[in-house]
Amino acid sequence: MLKKEFKGAELEGITTKHPFYDRLSPIILGEHVTEDSGTGCVHTAPGHGDDDFNVGILYHLPPYCPVDEKGYYTEDVGPDLAHHFYEEGNAIVIEKLKQCHALLKVSQFVHSYPHDWRTKKPLIYRATPQWFASIDKIRDVLLDEIKNVKWYPSWGEVRMHNMIKDRMDWCISRQRNWGVPIPVIYNEDHSPIIEKEVFDHIVKLFYEKGPNVWHDLSAKELLPDNYHNPLSPNDGFIKETDIMDVWFDSGSSSLAVFEKAYHTYPADLYLEGFDQYRGWFNSSLIIGTAINGHAPYKNVVSHGFILDGEGRKMSKSLKNTLDPNLLIQKYGADILRLWVASSNYQEDIRISENIIQQAAEMYKNIRNKFKFMLGNLSDFNDNQNHVKTFTFLDSCILALLNKCIDQCMDAYRQYQFNTVLTSIVNFLTIHLSGFYLDVAKDILYCDAKDSLRRRQVQTVIYHIVESLVLLLAPIIPHTAEEIYDHFVGKKKESVHLEKYKKVAVLQTLDCEKYLKDYEQLLMIRSDVLKALEEKRSLKEIGSSLDAAVTISSNNPEMLQFIKAIDEKTWQQILIVSKVNITENTQNLDQYTTISVRVAVYDGVKCERCWNKVDRSEIHEGNLCDRCYHVLKDE
Ligand SMILES: [Zn+2]
Repeated sequence: MLKKEFKGAELEGITTKHPFYDRLSPIILGEHVTEDSGTGCVHTAPGHGDDDFNVGILYHLPPYCPVDEKGYYTEDVGPDLAHHFYEEGNAIVIEKLKQCHALLKVSQFVHSYPHDWRTKKPLIYRATPQWFASIDKIRDVLLDEIKNVKWYPSWGEVRMHNMIKDRMDWCISRQRNWGVPIPVIYNEDHSPIIEKEVFDHIVKLFYEKGPNVWHDLSAKELLPDNYHNPLSPNDGFIKETDIMDVWFDSGSSSLAVFEKAYHTYPADLYLEGFDQYRGWFNSSLIIGTAINGHAPYKNVVSHGFILDGEGRKMSKSLKNTLDPNLLIQKYGADILRLWVASSNYQEDIRISENIIQQAAEMYKNIRNKFKFMLGNLSDFNDNQNHVKTFTFLDSCILALLNKCIDQCMDAYRQYQFNTVLTSIVNFLTIHLSGFYLDVAKDILYCDAKDSLRRRQVQTVIYHIVESLVLLLAPIIPHTAEEIYDHFVGKKKESVHLEKYKKVAVLQTLDCEKYLKDYEQLLMIRSDVLKALEEKRSLKEIGSSLDAAVTISSNNPEMLQFIKAIDEKTWQQILIVSKVNITENTQNLDQYTTISVRVAVYDGVKCERCWNKVDRSEIHEGNLCDRCYHVLKDE
């Protein structure tokens, strides 16, 4: 019969009588107890489980643990249960409850319970005495230090902050035979001796004789000469047999490595997988801050893990592992490095033959661009052929190079290696190959070898190689070395001995202006390419060199921009045989940015450079004026 309904919270603090021990038990509230399994009302044993222990602390309940390390009840629980294995306890307790008429109902209930992964046997929790490092005392300093460190990725700061904010005291003792001993000696009454001179003496012994001294000497021998303690009236002492948590060892590496060996503290960088926010980053921060007052690192970079092509964890049983050594044998170390650098390593990344194949394509692309540039520097004399003045187009590509360098340096500083690569590959593919070299080929191949214009292009290429080989050196060191070996500007024994310094010409160039101009140039070029493509699809022209192009704009600023570059230069930039600039847009078609008309150019094709020129300008042997003079002077 229902007598009364009330909330469980109202029971808090009520004491109940134990059915067969003369003991009172309080009713407490716990967040970990839920209604969806069982009654929502559970027995709590602070000495036998995490949740129970923690809620026990809140209610000042002692971690009572009447089960020994072998799993048998101690004398403490009385003659009925003492010396019984804990599993037999259930039946005995049920019997005792029946006898004292306190048992209402027995039923079996299936729930999850921790088991040893190896023996598959159920585990029992026991509260045991341990050594702890107090976090509370330095928590505020730790939280401040976290702010002073630069975290890559930036969410690392939040993760670390939350971990330290909520971290309980650190249990630093382990019951193992092998490891760094906890250097504590106990009196006869088992009270630990916490005295500075005792610790100083033990530290001195460790320095002199190594950590084995803890095992080699007796407790008495580990104490200073003539040491006595009133709590050990018979001079009997006991050594601690627990060892340090291994995270205490690794967390103190900063003290051993930086302070003792290199005399630098803190370190510039800690780099590890993102599981180490809980591990090494964490323990190092605590120990470094506890001892030196600040974090042992200035920067922390964390990375994800490598998964297979489908995003599954790699394992021997799934047979989905890829041996990096085999990949290196097949593709070369630089391609594997290029893949790593091009990945967003701050998250988990996938690898498969197919993905490596894509990195190999990227590699081939980079390699081919350098091969082309080095080939065109073969007659460039580093002492004589540098020029100081550049054309408009040269200045544009140099400004783009400058931008690419700035992006790369910035990305390197942020450990964003994929941004370095994207920036370099975009520069090489879109701007250099897709535009500048397209225009420059005619100059490189057909202008007089020693002409100013050709030397200008070569000087530009020189600066590109000189800058990019250094920016690529950390990512593809072997290839960078190979490029450097074939580079006329090689000054050191190895590219890796070079120090990066921005080339002088880039420091004085008005890059901002040329980048803006380049944007305009791209828009104009895009309109002209569209107009040429239309003619090509009508089969009126084949190559763009068949075309004469007239350009203009209704926009006065745009017209001014067009007119600031001469027609001959436009002809080269647009790779057509003739360019007319007009102020009148009447007979022109309006495109996105400018007005264009493409006509078939009725000229004669030069045998050497394939540019078309007026009939009146053609020399004997069907050569244009430029080619005629180049050949004549050779
Ligand atoms: Zn020609």
